[in-house]
Amino acid sequence: MKIVSSTIELNAALERPTLADLTGLVPTMGSLHEGHLSLIRLARSECSRVVVSIFVNPTQFSETRDLDAYPRQLERDAELAADAGAGVVFAPNAEDMYPDGFETWVEPSETAKGLEGKMRPGHFRGVATVCLKLFNLVAPHRAYFGWKDAQQTAVVGRMISDLNVQVTLRLGETVREPDGLALSSRNARLSADERDRAKVLPQALRAGLAAHAAHQNAKEAALAVLADDPQLEVEYVEEMTAHGHRLLCAALHIGTTRLIDNMRLEEST
Ligand code: AMP
Repeated sequence: MKIVSSTIELNAALERPTLADLTGLVPTMGSLHEGHLSLIRLARSECSRVVVSIFVNPTQFSETRDLDAYPRQLERDAELAADAGAGVVFAPNAEDMYPDGFETWVEPSETAKGLEGKMRPGHFRGVATVCLKLFNLVAPHRAYFGWKDAQQTAVVGRMISDLNVQVTLRLGETVREPDGLALSSRNARLSADERDRAKVLPQALRAGLAAHAAHQNAKEAALAVLADDPQLEVEYVEEMTAHGHRLLCAALHIGTTRLIDNMRLEEST
């Protein structure tokens, strides 16, 4: 296991592949949890070499408060990644990724409209740009992303196809707590009371799935469940299509923490 912190070191670390090797990349922002580790294990089951990137990408945050509050724990993350099968952890700093004079961006369009793209202007421009940079740096055969961030997978998938990027997108299922809450690095910011109330998010999505199965309005059913907690600030409940699947997606604030989640509507039928 190696930890490398610059693009030059990364190239040196990647120098010895045999032609038959498959390289898998798992891009993350660190603070690794079982959701990330499931992606790393999936990558390891399919690829002889797994690179995990850990980079809290400043260009996908519009609020510096959110960026500054993002948890960082590289040493622990590196151990967890290695145990799950990572051979290289790439943890660059922002100056290495965005040196002075940086000015070239990937600007996603239709898939980046609505939902997260609407609530977080510029977010997917930062995501698409950093993903293309990571793909160019690591040259993976496969890149692993979670359904948890469904719109992100749609944006990245679109970019891969639009720009002929030589990588195959692989998707991992959302890993959840026993009460249904999707694992997220942001969950650590919830107080005990907020953490308990957060389970309403998957409950609302499940209610939406049940309504859909009964040929009723999924969005309305989910909103009705969320309305039970008047302290929640609901940003959106919307349907979207990603990779041929119809999804019910939601975003909300509990206190100062923003949570997102989605479920596939097909699973209700
Ligand atoms: P992040 O570090 O939040 O940028 O996430 C890195 C990758 O892990 C993304 O592809 C996410 O979709 C994925 N991911 C985040 N949470 C989960 C989860 N609970 N289950 C599965 N994958 C996840």
